[in-house]
Amino acid sequence: MLAPAQLPTPLVNCPDEALARVGVELRLKRDDLAHPLVPGNKWRKLTPNLEAAAERGETRLLTFGGAYSTHLRATAVAAGALGLESVGLVRGEELARAPRNWSLRAAEAAGMELVFLPRAEYREAAGRCGTDPVVAAGLQRRFGPCLVLPEGGSNALAARGAAAVAAELTDLGERDVVCCPVGTGGTLAGIAAGLPPGARALGVAVLRGGAGYLEDEVTRLHREAYGREFADWRIDHDHHGGGYGRVPAALEEFAAGFERRHGVALERRYVAKLLSALYGLAAAGAFPPGTRLTAVVTGLPDPVEGP
Ligand SMILES: *Cc1c(COP(=O)(O)O)cnc(C)c1O
Repeated sequence: MLAPAQLPTPLVNCPDEALARVGVELRLKRDDLAHPLVPGNKWRKLTPNLEAAAERGETRLLTFGGAYSTHLRATAVAAGALGLESVGLVRGEELARAPRNWSLRAAEAAGMELVFLPRAEYREAAGRCGTDPVVAAGLQRRFGPCLVLPEGGSNALAARGAAAVAAELTDLGERDVVCCPVGTGGTLAGIAAGLPPGARALGVAVLRGGAGYLEDEVTRLHREAYGREFADWRIDHDHHGGGYGRVPAALEEFAAGFERRHGVALERRYVAKLLSALYGLAAAGAFPPGTRLTAVVTGLPDPVEGP
């Protein structure tokens, strides 16, 4: 059994002088507190998929991730707790021979079978498992009958799960912008779809070179999950800090300062990037005075456990 999540997650005001100067308010939607084992947006996105899997009598999940993938860890833990088998296809054949890092160790400890793929093969399998029937059939043949979750877990059910974040914000109107980091776009797709008329969603891409591609992904998820498109969202591509997983010194400094001022520990790859982007955009006059930003804290900092 997977312990239930603590919902709705807390919504806290986060007054800050730097934002007040430009007439902008900030609140934090503490989704990082949703669940002790499957935090934040991973709980929102995974649980609808796991429930559907259990209903359909599936016994085995297969998904994809990199060496430190939170999605792999979360899938391993949630699947294990529900009595489902799980297989994780990991990017990078060389990792098979290296000592397991803390993240892969945690996935294995939760019962996930790890299979390490050369990068080209990984790209092919992860990129086309949802669209190419030959690739999908190949996975079923090689790994046995299983429910395949895409990389990052973003599919129609995941987007609908993430829409609950917006639904829990019951006071939104014209001055509100609900903000989240964007990895694969499932969380942003859900939030945008769940907003009331007038409110808008802003995603901050944490990876480099995603312009166009990520917008297409969000639109595809909207069509799949809701059968329509939405016009209440956009993605900022100018605050990725050099690329996925990069934490430049200025970002680290921002994160440490924010933690000191507000007493909230920040996950660096997504959450700190989001907040740093919001402060940068606000300082540059991107938000009219009176704007209220609600930043979704989508996850927890990594444990400090060495390599
Ligand atoms: C996985 C993850 C994301 C990315 O969410 P997408 O739905 O893939 O865009 C954002 N924040 C945190 C903390 C994550 O772990």
